[in-house]
Amino acid sequence: MSNRILLIEDEEKIARFTELELVHEGYEVAKAFNGRDGLEAALSGRYDLVLLDVMLPELNGLEVLRRLRRESDMPVIMLTARDAVMDKVSGLDAGADDYITKPFAIEELLARVRVALKKRGGRIFYTNKLTAGPVTVDTDRHEVTCCGQNIDLTHREYELLRVLLENKNIVMDREKLMNQVCGYDYIGETNIIDVYVRYIRSKIDDRFGIHFIHTVRGVGYVIKE
Ligand code: CA
Repeated sequence: MSNRILLIEDEEKIARFTELELVHEGYEVAKAFNGRDGLEAALSGRYDLVLLDVMLPELNGLEVLRRLRRESDMPVIMLTARDAVMDKVSGLDAGADDYITKPFAIEELLARVRVALKKRGGRIFYTNKLTAGPVTVDTDRHEVTCCGQNIDLTHREYELLRVLLENKNIVMDREKLMNQVCGYDYIGETNIIDVYVRYIRSKIDDRFGIHFIHTVRGVGYVIKE
């Protein structure tokens, strides 16, 4: 899968040119033309890297960066005007990974993009925590906690819990759960799901005295908020 880059740049010519080059390199690109839209898009968690112009209408690039950093550590490369030393320093202070001065050679930009993505291990999801009540699943770390305590789950128990949490408040039937947890080529009885649910309940519901995974008779299971 290709990396997704968000380009926040109000100068349409530069934006279009940069987009073309990035797409040519195999990246997926989305553009925003002012700071406010750009910040909103960056916070959506859909992108792997942000190219952020400093001089932007609505909200300037440094302010976008400051607000973004309160919630996300995704890679950000600032696009600064030539010799605007203050911008570079402020940008790095505010948490930019790198900067590049305009007008830039596209090869340099591509090189910096590659470095920034590599440093962060490529694709990163920032909406990496699923929660319901006292239970949290951190999908980056494969960690499950309840009331702040670590819960030890097997791979399939973990997958089942993750799928139920991703579909919070939606009743999931056994077949759907089995396909997602065991894979579509798994041949077996759907009551395997009941077995895993029982294990999870013994590790979470019983241990913490909560009613976490609900049975919907004749259908399947649901986790409610
Ligand atoms: Ca600008």
